[in-house]
Amino acid sequence: MAKDPVCGMIVNEKSGLSSDFGGKKFYFCSPTCQKTFTEPEKELSRMKKRIYVATSGALALAIIRGALYLGVAAGAITVSWVPFPEIPFLSYGLLLFIIVTPVQFIGGWTFYVGAFHAILKKTANMDLLISIGTLTAYIYSTVVLFFPDAIPGDEKFVYFEVSAVIIAFVLLGKYMEEAIKKKSSSAVKKLLDLSPPMARVVRDSSEIEIPSNQIKLDDIMIVKPGEKIPTDGVIISGESSIDEKMITGESLPVGKKPGDQVIGATVNKQGLLQIKASKVGKETALSQIVHVVEQAQSSTAKVQRMADSIAAKFVPSVVSAAVVTFLLWYFVMGDFIAGMLAFVAVMIIACPCALGVATPAALMVGVGKGAESGILIRGAEYLERSQKINTIVFDKTGTITKGEPDVTDIVSLNELTERQILEYGGTVESGSEHPIAQAIVNKVKEMKIPLIAPDEFESLNGLGVRGIVHGKKIYDGNRQMMKQFSIDASLAEQNMERLESEGKTAIMVAIDDKIEGIIAVADSLKETSQMAIMALTDLGIESIMITGDNEKTAKAIAQKVGIEKIIANVLPADKAKEIKKLQDQGKFVAMVGDGINDAPALAQADIGIAIGSGSDIAKETGGIILIRDDLMDVSRAIRLSRATMKKIKQNLFWAFAYNSGGIPIAALGLLNPIFAAAAMALSSISVIANSSLLRRYKITSGEEKLMKNYQSQQQKLERAKL
Ligand code: ADP
Ligand code: MG
Repeated sequence: MAKDPVCGMIVNEKSGLSSDFGGKKFYFCSPTCQKTFTEPEKELSRMKKRIYVATSGALALAIIRGALYLGVAAGAITVSWVPFPEIPFLSYGLLLFIIVTPVQFIGGWTFYVGAFHAILKKTANMDLLISIGTLTAYIYSTVVLFFPDAIPGDEKFVYFEVSAVIIAFVLLGKYMEEAIKKKSSSAVKKLLDLSPPMARVVRDSSEIEIPSNQIKLDDIMIVKPGEKIPTDGVIISGESSIDEKMITGESLPVGKKPGDQVIGATVNKQGLLQIKASKVGKETALSQIVHVVEQAQSSTAKVQRMADSIAAKFVPSVVSAAVVTFLLWYFVMGDFIAGMLAFVAVMIIACPCALGVATPAALMVGVGKGAESGILIRGAEYLERSQKINTIVFDKTGTITKGEPDVTDIVSLNELTERQILEYGGTVESGSEHPIAQAIVNKVKEMKIPLIAPDEFESLNGLGVRGIVHGKKIYDGNRQMMKQFSIDASLAEQNMERLESEGKTAIMVAIDDKIEGIIAVADSLKETSQMAIMALTDLGIESIMITGDNEKTAKAIAQKVGIEKIIANVLPADKAKEIKKLQDQGKFVAMVGDGINDAPALAQADIGIAIGSGSDIAKETGGIILIRDDLMDVSRAIRLSRATMKKIKQNLFWAFAYNSGGIPIAALGLLNPIFAAAAMALSSISVIANSSLLRRYKITSGEEKLMKNYQSQQQKLERAKL
């Protein structure tokens, strides 16, 4: 079963109506829905025409009715027109017939097409309900008008206005729905509008202007101050500060120099830049963001799926309920007309149209809102899970800390100098890309020690590195590493523990199976880590730190940010297992880490949150992607998800309330079919308007209080130190 992306109906894939869009196949309940999807502008203008016909007809009817009532009240017209078969009635009825018929068949045409299609495929849709409802009123009135004897009873009225007004209302409701939807989806469209249409590039050593979509990889783009950068690239000359707010949500401009990456659609604030294009077309950060947002906006929440399956069974049962209503009225109460009106009212009020838009409307706004602030939510399921999350596991290196450690201590345990320890240790590290390795290599360069390439090199994930230099076997790594190669590390233990209790990561350097020294590195915390943990505690979520580092170092760092629970000495491959363990304890776990190294753990978690991906969104695993490197965005993403989910639930409640509350009232004959139509139009509109309210949601809401708490806590700490 697939879902109609326009009305939200569950449709059978075999129904034959499908369109390919963006590499995905979509299925539709009716040709109208299909057209609304494939050519929205045309369909909207066709819809406008139908609305003109329907509303002008309905209005004319209202005026005639009004004039008649006024005339009767003023005594100018006698009531003799009412009972059949006097001539005034026939001419009045004819007038109505002439006005209503175009409304019925031009305005309502779209419903018949949809209903016909549903019948052909032996399914039911909303068009069917509206068609049966309005045609009942129309055909009945026509029969009364031309063949009065065919109808039992004495009092005979025409109900042309019922069908005309229903058609007008439902069309108006649909139109407003589309209009509001269009406004809500503008978040994505706005994103696409961000990239500049034209670009200046150097071709054949002269500068020419071309449309941005014709930029090729490695083209050199020239970007003047105040201009937008046409596509993702690397600065080759010039320096500037760049406003990246539209992509990352970061409001402060970022300084950039040659060699730095820049993102397409961001604004060059100062210098003249030459930028080599590194990504074009679908590969750019902007395209990726739009892709993720669009996918998310068309995803379905579990609650919605439940609502949909109810709605799918709803339509056939409504038809039977309406028939039963009519039969009861006619045979038990003996009232044919009341039965017919109740039948029409039940058909109309039962139309589950608001149900279909309940999730998409809120999702559109919530997901768009996140995208504006660099928070990409991959789909409705993550909004749903965000409500249950009670534990968040953070990777240490690069997530809580900056991931750019510096060497702080060098210890020689035997007769080698500290410089020699660094030289041997650094030589093998030069083959590794680990942040620890980079810290050590930086220190080597700083001390102007020449580096030679090792003759042999191996990197052991989560343990360290080893290699051969000038025939000497060198090992850099932690305790497990030394154990694995049967190197006695007891000589280093005392120093290791001292360094680790200071929050440093201590790496042992062994040469030819003998421990010679220790190089310690320390990483600084990201500015907002501590506040981010407070924000989560405030949401009732427990934070846990996971790391490959040893217990002591981990504890020292955890304490600084206010995390109580740590899971240390975890090999990278085992992080996912640790997440699983927490889940087995009944916890709902989100994992925050970088989307590349921590991918398995992110995938295992109920919500994987990839942080600081910058512009490389394509590579990311994770249900939520935080483009910025700010840990505060974790609580913001959870808050926004919860707020959006709340809206979805409200919407579903209201949509159901209209339907299920309305049906018994309509069956009892207490609901005029015209009011039923108005209520249906209103229900869709109110669901969408309720979702639009989410647009006012502030992504940083609730943080002022937190900030105050944080500051007073810092002050207390300061005072305690003095
Ligand atoms: P984290 O969970 O902090 O990202 P890793 O799994 O990357 O940690 O590494 C765990 C531990 O393995 C490090 O704390 C360090 O002791 C050791 N290690 C990893 N890579 C290296 C390296 N290149 N040189 C020395 N030690 C390393
Ligand atoms: Mg890491």
